[in-house]
Amino acid sequence: MIRSAETCQCPIQEIGPSMAETCSGQAVLLFMTILEAFINGRCDLADPCNRLNSKDDLHDSYDFVVVGGGTAGAVVAGRLSENPQWKVLLLEAGGDEPTPSAVPAWVTAYWERNDTDWLYFTEPQEKACLAYGGKCYWPRAKLLGGCSTINGMMYMRGHAADYDGWAVNGATGWSWHEVFPYFLKSENNKEIGAVVSHEYHNVGGPMPVQRFRHAPEFAHDLVSASLELGCPPTNDLNGDSSTGFTVAQTFNDGGSRYSTARGFLRPGAKRENLHVVFNALASKVVVDPNTKKVTGVEYIKDGATKVVGVNKEAILSAGTLNSPQLLLLSGIGPKETLEQFDIPVVQELPGVGQNLQNHVGVKLKFTLMKEPDAPILDWASAMEYMLKREGPLAGTGLSQLTGMMNSKFAPAGGRQPDIQYFFSGYHASCGDGRNTDPENYDSLERRTVMITPVALQPRSRGYLTLRSTNPTDPPVMQPNYFYDDHEMDVLLEGAKIAYRLANTTLLREKYGMVPAPGYGKGCPGSGDSPTDEFLRCLARMYTAPENHQVGTCKMGPVNDPMAVVDPQLRVHGIQGLRVIDAAIMPTLPTGNTAAPTIMIAERGAEFVITRHQQFKKRPDNGLGIRFGESSQSSGTNNGQWNDNRWSYGNGADWQNNEQKWNNGKPWDKTWNWGDKPRDDQHSTDWRKKYNTPTYPESI
Ligand SMILES: Cc1cc2nc3c(=O)[nH]c(=O)nc-3n(C[C@H](O)[C@H](O)[C@H](O)COP(=O)(O)OP(=O)(O)OC[C@H]3O[C@@H](n4cnc5c(N)ncnc54)[C@H](O)[C@@H]3O)c2cc1C
Repeated sequence: MIRSAETCQCPIQEIGPSMAETCSGQAVLLFMTILEAFINGRCDLADPCNRLNSKDDLHDSYDFVVVGGGTAGAVVAGRLSENPQWKVLLLEAGGDEPTPSAVPAWVTAYWERNDTDWLYFTEPQEKACLAYGGKCYWPRAKLLGGCSTINGMMYMRGHAADYDGWAVNGATGWSWHEVFPYFLKSENNKEIGAVVSHEYHNVGGPMPVQRFRHAPEFAHDLVSASLELGCPPTNDLNGDSSTGFTVAQTFNDGGSRYSTARGFLRPGAKRENLHVVFNALASKVVVDPNTKKVTGVEYIKDGATKVVGVNKEAILSAGTLNSPQLLLLSGIGPKETLEQFDIPVVQELPGVGQNLQNHVGVKLKFTLMKEPDAPILDWASAMEYMLKREGPLAGTGLSQLTGMMNSKFAPAGGRQPDIQYFFSGYHASCGDGRNTDPENYDSLERRTVMITPVALQPRSRGYLTLRSTNPTDPPVMQPNYFYDDHEMDVLLEGAKIAYRLANTTLLREKYGMVPAPGYGKGCPGSGDSPTDEFLRCLARMYTAPENHQVGTCKMGPVNDPMAVVDPQLRVHGIQGLRVIDAAIMPTLPTGNTAAPTIMIAERGAEFVITRHQQFKKRPDNGLGIRFGESSQSSGTNNGQWNDNRWSYGNGADWQNNEQKWNNGKPWDKTWNWGDKPRDDQHSTDWRKKYNTPTYPESI
């Protein structure tokens, strides 16, 4: 039986707003409130002993101030605070992760609410989101863990050629061979051998990766149905094959979400050298205009503006939409913009906010004529989750399903796929508790599912700029969707393949899958074989704006006038300032962006660590700095920042620590190459196979 709140080793606190409110209807609300109360009382989901507390009494200055405790910021703050000699402050504009955000099925619960989402909308689009007034909604988390706390958790790395392209275009050191170890560093893949290969995956990192414990039968059937299109299914789009349909691996463990805050920050929650402040909105980086060196970070907390000092570096991890906004507010950006807002120019960098890129798709709606639209979440499925962390609540319905294809517009030789498919339907998000009998469902209440083809290498470029000098105002976001015809051309191909997929024998006969009657009725040319004009019209009306914004603080060499950070992620022309998040990507990866962002954060943190690690300045006698002694380089090890894991009082520990730091790659020991010799690291087989087939033109 479901029990009331468990007795955990630490008292459980209620964190964040109720997700039950996001469901409509009194009967639903009652059931959801009861269910949420039970969820909140479970020790494994609430994790009360490892939660971070917001700190009130801050120090005047810190060695590192990380702005934004999101997907990347949690990694950076977690890694930097592994060194007890460094004082690290993390400023997060939102609060801690609400306990129910751990339930995979409740993926959308914290969207569209002003306490957990920035509620961002684009500028009006001429050719996109027209069914929604032309303004596309871009959910962005305002919470610890950032978007890793509210995203679909899908684990996709992009394609080797993406990173080789970055390197060729000036991001020296970011080719696939160079970034691959940093994907491995964070990964703790639980399905090596069973689902994915050790050639591409790793164990021992902080982020568990595996399939959800539950996927609807329809998801597996769709993967099988894709065979009829001549498209072999795959277990791993991060492995040998870069095309095919699959039930994807995700960041989850034990039936619950794994945000980067859970993976990287909670294990260090007791570190005395890591201070976190929630609901603290960074408003400016303070830079000495003469030396161009960062001296502090200004932030707003409880209505008061404060400044905290920076001894070594400030790191912006506020995401693609807020890191450039902060640079602009700090006087770093295009001169015309800064002058327009009377912001003193600290460093002219024309690229700040430019190069905004996002994947874009079209939502195609289908009806399953043989499937009643019965709620997935009822008492039976709730019990399954409560007792075993299994069932529909332990998955995201069809959102865990994906596929990649090459259209005729794919890069030469099918090098990278240019279409990705996303799906929705069968969600267990809201319910009224009734155990439903499908037979009793009205024949008119049929289940609908969405297929969304997405263009993976968009050519349209947008920009982001200030709306005002008020840091609480959202920036102006202009993606220029469909400015370049390429995306529309690719989506047309993608949509036609989706219609063929829906019409495969398996999906047609088992589910009665048909284009949803009446969908897109304002668009001429609908039907079972819709015209190109109908599909174009759907893309303009029912645009899928995706959530993969990148590029607004582009990485590139100093001679690239549009580069904002160098390949070590240092802001050009400023000392002691880096951007480490999705904003630095020069172009979009071929796929989702969370794993690439974590890779960037691992890499960025290592750049910082390598730059400042103390043993470089160790005295000649070889003893190094002992805990409690003064340090020339930081002056911070005053005994307050002790951490038993790193106690330097004992010679053996010091040796271990030195060894761990000395090779510069502390994760090396966790590499798991199965029976293969370590020489494999240099094998060219690592590279994904490039020559994947191009999907036939005529469909
Ligand atoms: C709804 C949704 C679904 C997605 N699904 C997937 C998926 O399934 N798989 C996948 O790979 N990718 C997915 N993505 C994309 C992926 O999650 C993001 O690209 C990635 O998480 C971005 O990480 P980030 O660190 O750059 O930014 P974020 O994770 O957004 O972190 C930025 C953090 O900074 C904080 N912040 C911002 N401004 C300030 C300020 N001024 N002061 C203090 N703090 C500030 C924010 O509150 C936030 O916590 C999804 C994204 C969304 C929004």
